[in-house]
This record gives sequence, C-alpha cells and structure tokens, in this order.
Amino acid sequence: MKNIVILGATGSIGMNTLDVISRFPDRFRVVGLTVRSNDVKLETLIKRFQPKVVSLMDEVAAAALSKRLNGSGTEVLSGMEGCVEVARFPDCDIVVSAVVGAAGLLPTLSAIQNGKVVALANKETLVMAGEIIQKEARSRNVPLLPIDSEHSAIFQVLSGERHEDLLRLILTASGGPLIDFTPEMKEKVSPEVALAHPNWKMGPKISIDSATLMNKGLEVIEARWFFDAPPEKIDVVIHRQSIIHSMVEFVDRSVVAQMGLPDMRVPISYALHYPERAPLSLPSLQLEEIGQLTFEKPDRKAFPLLTCAYDALKGGGTLPSVLNAVNEEAVEAFLSEKIRFVEIAQVVQQTMESHCPQSIGTLDDVLEADQWARREGQLWISKYAA
Ligand code: NDP
Ligand code: MG
Repeated sequence: MKNIVILGATGSIGMNTLDVISRFPDRFRVVGLTVRSNDVKLETLIKRFQPKVVSLMDEVAAAALSKRLNGSGTEVLSGMEGCVEVARFPDCDIVVSAVVGAAGLLPTLSAIQNGKVVALANKETLVMAGEIIQKEARSRNVPLLPIDSEHSAIFQVLSGERHEDLLRLILTASGGPLIDFTPEMKEKVSPEVALAHPNWKMGPKISIDSATLMNKGLEVIEARWFFDAPPEKIDVVIHRQSIIHSMVEFVDRSVVAQMGLPDMRVPISYALHYPERAPLSLPSLQLEEIGQLTFEKPDRKAFPLLTCAYDALKGGGTLPSVLNAVNEEAVEAFLSEKIRFVEIAQVVQQTMESHCPQSIGTLDDVLEADQWARREGQLWISKYAA
C-alpha cells in the first residue's frame, strides 16, 4: 500500500489522480490533500477519501472548514506553511505535485527534501528552479517522475536507453484552439474562446498557455531539466491530433514515439505505479478511427512566446523564472479581461526585455526574480489596461 499526498487536489490533474487512485483501493491510500480555497469541493473529497491532513491556502476558508469538520479524523492546516507541512507528511510515500503556477515550488521542494517520490505535473517548479530541484532530488536519490504527457512519453521511451544515445527530444503540441486564427481574429479573442482546447480538458491557466503556445515553451524548459538535454536538442512539432505524446530521436536516427488517446489518467497512472504498469479500463486507441496523424512546423511569428521560452532557457539564470512569473500575471489579466489575448505576449516580451538577468545561487534568487517580474509585469498590464 502506498500513501499519497495530492497538492492541488481539486484541480484537473488532482481530480484525475483521485480517479486513478480510486481504481486501485488495494494499492493506494490518500493521506493528504491541499487546495487554494475550494473548501466545499475539498470537504466532499475528505468525506470520500478520509485523508489524515489537508491544507488550504485561504485561511478564512480553512477556518470555516475546520469548524465544520470538528471531531473528524482530518487535521486542517492553512497557508503556504500548511501546504509545505502536508507535502512533507511523514506517513507519505508519493507526493503528486498538481498545484498550478509558482505556488507549487516550495511544497514540491519540501517533498523532495523529505525524501518523497514526487510525481510532477506542476511544470512551473522546474521552469523556475530546475537546477536546484534536480540537484536536491539527485543528491537524495529521490525519484522525480513526470506527469505532463509529453514528458511521461519521453520518460517511457528513454527507459533502458543510454543518455549518450539520445540525439533529439521532439515534443508534440496540438497547437491549441487558435492555431488557425489569423492575426486579425486573434485581436478579438475572448477568454471563453481561448479556453476551449480541442483535445484536453484542463485548468484555465494551462489552457491559455496552450492557446499562446507558452505551454510548449514551458515544457521545453521542463524537458531540459527532466532529461538533462540542452535546448539545441529539444524540438517542437505541431501534431493536432494529440495521439503521439512525444518522440525521441536516437543517434542511429531511429525515432521512437509514445502514443495513446489523450487522457491524463494514463501518465498519472504510469507515474503512480512506476516502474510497473497497471491495467486501466479506458478506450483503446483505434488508429483506423483516427485516420491521419499530421505534423507541422510551429509558426514562430504567430506564437512568439515559444521563441521567448527558448531564449529564456538559453539565457538561463533568472530569465526562466521571470518568464514564468510574468506569464502568470499576464494570463490572469487576460482571464479577468484587463488585457487582450495578443497583449499577453507583449507584456511577457516587454518584461523580459526590461530584465537584467542574474545568475541563480539560491532559492531566494529565484523567488526575488519571480517577485520582480510580477511587479514589472503589472506595470505593463496597467499600461495596456488603461
Ligand atoms: P487547475 O487550475 O485545474 O487546478 C489547480 C489546483 O491547484 C486546484 O486544486 C487549486 O485549488 C490549486 N491552486 C491554485 N492556485 C493555488 C495557489 N496559489 N496555491 C495553492 N494551491 C493552488 O490546474 P491543472 O490541474 O490544470 O494544472 C495543475 C498543474 O499541472 C499545472 O502546473 C499544469 O501546467 C500541469 N499540467 C496540467 C495538465 C492538465 O491536463 N490539466 C496537463 C499537464 C500538466 P482551488 O480548487 O481551491 O482553486
Ligand atoms: Mg503537456
């Protein structure tokens, strides 16, 4: 029996993880859950899974829930400290890191420092602090397992291969809902249209990142740290059907792909059961029904944030952290209709250009860059919003 903590339990990945866990009651037990503020949904999860400890970022919601749960066997914590506490809960084997955004960094780091196996969906953690995270994980021999479908695909393909035989990682991207939009059409895109991903049902932030292709940019940086591959060895190809989840080219020019219907329960189950596989009763991939698999070069002009992410990775230091933070601010501003869709990229680019990159020594350097980028990003956002 493995004891599981889920950070970001009420989200899209969190709920898919609970779906997988509930299919294997003899193998997994939920011991801890964290959320931002959704105390009502968390309460239903507590009744169903009976975790020992939960935490909410929102202190008021935590106090209200604690009152309602009075006398139950579940301890209620709050704030970032509470979240970190749950991530290092002693009686836990695997931490599923599925918070969205930079808020995932500290609890994920804490899980690693306390020797937990980490199944990572929160790509922002590796974008911000990939080097620090990998150093901590490797020095403690803590397995870091990908949940992101592209990285799970590459992880599966690389299993049993030698690192020196890897020539190129090829990340696939669906292109998102706006792939065929002209620049004029993009000028008028509403949050509702940008949120409507053709193949995946995901949380709002990653859905907008998919529409700008920033998600793929963040995944390039994530791949750099997961697989110790330099940016020149990481390519992106548009594959609209989301059937090939990613590929690896080896030095003998053999290309190996991992395929499947787009369903996050597959990579989640792979990470939870690793190194085994467990039967999942899900529909089988019928290629004859899919018909065609297509591949296109991404249009860098139409999706400038992809280039921005490569530049941040190549520049290194504080740049990826700044990229991530300002993108979070810009996406939030778009979702709350303060700026237009096309202004997301402009806010990110302008903030990146105003940044004086520094090298990263400690976690504080990362957090300072994050805070600087949010302040600077807000200045640009207010200019556009005016
Ligand atoms: P969602 O928005 O659906 O869920 C986010 C979860 O994190 C919720 O439980 C939310 O709680 C909690 N949360 C949000 N903000 C904070 C915060 N500031 N502090 C603490 N907790 C917070 O996100 P997704 O599940 O879509 O994505 C989660 C992560 O997984 C992201 O990093 C994303 O890039 C990655 N990912 C997601 C995929 C997907 O299919 N969804 C695929 C691959 C990667 P509450 O409900 O209370 O707001
Ligand atoms: Mg992905």
